[in-house]
Amino acid sequence: MKKLLLILFSILISKLLGQNNHHFEQSLLFQVSIIDSLYSGNYDGKFSVNDLMLNGDFGLGTFDKLDGEMIVLEGKAYQFKADGKIYENVLLLKTPFAVVVKFKSDTLFKKSCLNEVSIINFLDSIINNNYFYAIKLHGKFSFIAARTVDAQSKPYKPLIDVLKNQIVFEKNNLEGTLVGFYCPQYFNKINVSGYHFHFISDDKNFGGHVLSFYLIAGNMEIQKINCLKIFLPN
Ligand code: ZN
Repeated sequence: MKKLLLILFSILISKLLGQNNHHFEQSLLFQVSIIDSLYSGNYDGKFSVNDLMLNGDFGLGTFDKLDGEMIVLEGKAYQFKADGKIYENVLLLKTPFAVVVKFKSDTLFKKSCLNEVSIINFLDSIINNNYFYAIKLHGKFSFIAARTVDAQSKPYKPLIDVLKNQIVFEKNNLEGTLVGFYCPQYFNKINVSGYHFHFISDDKNFGGHVLSFYLIAGNMEIQKINCLKIFLPN
């Protein structure tokens, strides 16, 4: 009798677990290193872009020696370097910091006449600020300013000093995609808290870490994230 009860109990538990698994849809953010490490000057890439791409198809980051800005869009990684050009052959490069997700939007908004301030106001009004979100905004931009940085040599300076020499590019009238994330305030040493956007133009000629923009019209898709995985390199 005891044995029968035990069997029934284990069937019940496995059914319950099975049901839970069935209802639990994982939306996973995969991150290489932590932002505090990058801020303090750890720019050596220790994780290959090829391996990064196994963990997501949408994201952002930087490259070994801080050599340009990374944009990951639709399963492809791009490098926007200090010479103002996009490089696509980057799978063998390494990254000291990057964040990716398998992008699957929950919600779609049609937006127009947004700048870098009004997008934040809008997103603040719709998100739960205890969660991470991936944000994809494709559209027509009348203006965009984006920065990148040149490859650094040792001894590495902290990021705040490197950014004094950041290279800013400005473009008018272009179509492209903002690739971004929202990270909760309580995570501020782990990832960039608040909003962080990179950009890539449709013609793959321009990109970078977004400083300011004006969106004429576009589609914004967002994905709420409920799982995090952080790889800490040696
Ligand atoms: Zn950035």
